[in-house]
Formats: sequence, structure tokens, C-alpha cells
Amino acid sequence: MSTLEIRDLHVSITADDVEKEILRGVDLTINSGETHAIMGPNGSGKSTLAYSIAGHPKYTVTGGSITLDGEDVLAMGVDERARAGLFLAMQYPVEVPGITVSNFLRTAKTAVDGEAPKLRTWVKDVKEAMGNLRMDPAFAERGVNEGFSGGEKKRHEILQLELLKPRFAVLDETDSGLDVDALRVVSEGVNRAQENTDLGVLLITHYTRILRYIKPEFVHVFVDGVIAEEGGPELAERLENEGYDRFLTAGV
Ligand code: ADP
Ligand code: MG
Ligand code: MG
Repeated sequence: MSTLEIRDLHVSITADDVEKEILRGVDLTINSGETHAIMGPNGSGKSTLAYSIAGHPKYTVTGGSITLDGEDVLAMGVDERARAGLFLAMQYPVEVPGITVSNFLRTAKTAVDGEAPKLRTWVKDVKEAMGNLRMDPAFAERGVNEGFSGGEKKRHEILQLELLKPRFAVLDETDSGLDVDALRVVSEGVNRAQENTDLGVLLITHYTRILRYIKPEFVHVFVDGVIAEEGGPELAERLENEGYDRFLTAGV
């Protein structure tokens, strides 16, 4: 079993020469096979948490730690984090013009495993994963994210998850633009990865909609850069009914 541990994490961003603290002491422990949902109002720092785990250079960690089985994740470069078993699907995936999905996946797999996958098995694995996601084989020859619809971006993300077999996945979902079919693809992919590889999942979302498909055992409510409340699935149901108002007026 693996553990991803975030301790008293403080993160700042600098915009227009002004440094602003966004994460103000986040504590979170995720074990293999567990699903944690981070929920919270817009601007509460959810994506900042995802980017910080990913090692995005714009986000400066000013305090605290992130460790994976005791290894210092913050000391790792972005590639090292992927090799250590972290998978980070970003909210706004970048276009990689001229690189096909097929080449992108093979390059990513080689980077994560430290060696190129055997061609015969790889072709079979890609075919199977694409079949699982009900993807047209022609998709593999398209440019990465070039003209992808919201649903195609999601399928591409989950395709990576299936093929790279990470230990932990951080999925930052806007949920916006995702139809029911895409939500189902994401949730089925995540559930499959949990069954097959005991994946630990951190699912970041504003809306409760996706939680009808992916059932988190743990729900953390994020407000103003800290976890304001924690609970089980019942907390997500409560947020669905009540929204975030209760948290936004708390402490006033
Ligand atoms: P969420 O994902 O919960 O909506 P974010 O992490 O995106 O929240 O944003 C948290 C706060 O940090 C917001 O006030 C946002 O304006 C600010 N912020 C985040 N990223 C940047 C950035 N790259 N440049 C400037 N401000 C940012
Ligand atoms: Mg603190
Ligand atoms: Mg966000």
C-alpha cells in the first residue's frame, strides 16, 4: 500500500509582483485504493492544490510538505513525480500541436516506466484501453488536444490513466462542458483503475454531479485555502442540497 501525505501545505502565487498566499495550511492523507473528493466554491484554491502537487512553477510552496511513501515530492521535478507514480490531469490541458495521441502516449509511458514499452504488448494495451473507453481507433492519430471536445479531453485523460498505471491520480474537474456520457467515461475509468491497480484518487470538483458516478469515501470541503470540514459521502449530499453558503458565511 502507498500513501500520499500532504502536511500543513502553504502555497503562494505572485501576480503583478504581488505575492498572495492561496493555500494556508492544508493537511490531507490519501492511501491506495481510496477516493477523496475535494469540493469547494470557486476561487477557494482547489486547482492551486492540484498544480502544487503537479509541481507547476507558478505555484510557490512556502511551507509544509508533500510526501509519497515518505519520499519528498516537493524535491522532485515534474517528470520525477510522474515516475514516482503521480498522475495529474489538469483542468485546462494544453495543446501539443503536431504530436499524435499515439506518440504522446508512448512517450509518456516510456518516461514513466524508464524504458519503452514492448511494441506488440503496447499496441494491444492501447487498443484494449481505447475499446474500454469506446473510442474510435482514429482518435490515436489526432493531434493531442487539437480541437478536442470536452468529452474527448476526458477520454484522453482517462486513456492515459489506464495506460500509465499510476499509484495516485489527481483529477481536477470543472465538470462544465461534460455531458453525462463523459462523466460516465471518467467514473468508469477511475473505478476500473481502482479495481485493477488499487489507484488512490483525489477528485477535485465544484459540483456534486460527478459524485453520483464516482463515490468518494472521504469528502473535504475547501474554503479560502484550507479544509473547512471533512466527512463521508453524506457531506457531498449535504452540499448538493445546501450549497456552500454555510461555509462562506462561517466566521463572519
Ligand atoms: P479554484 O480551483 O478553487 O476555483 P484556484 O486555485 O484556481 O481556485 O484559485 C485560487 C485563488 O488563486 C483565486 O483567487 C485565483 O484568482 C488565484 N489564482 C490561482 N491561480 C492563479 C494564477 N496563475 N495567477 C493569478 N491568480 C491565481
Ligand atoms: Mg500553517
Ligand atoms: Mg479550479
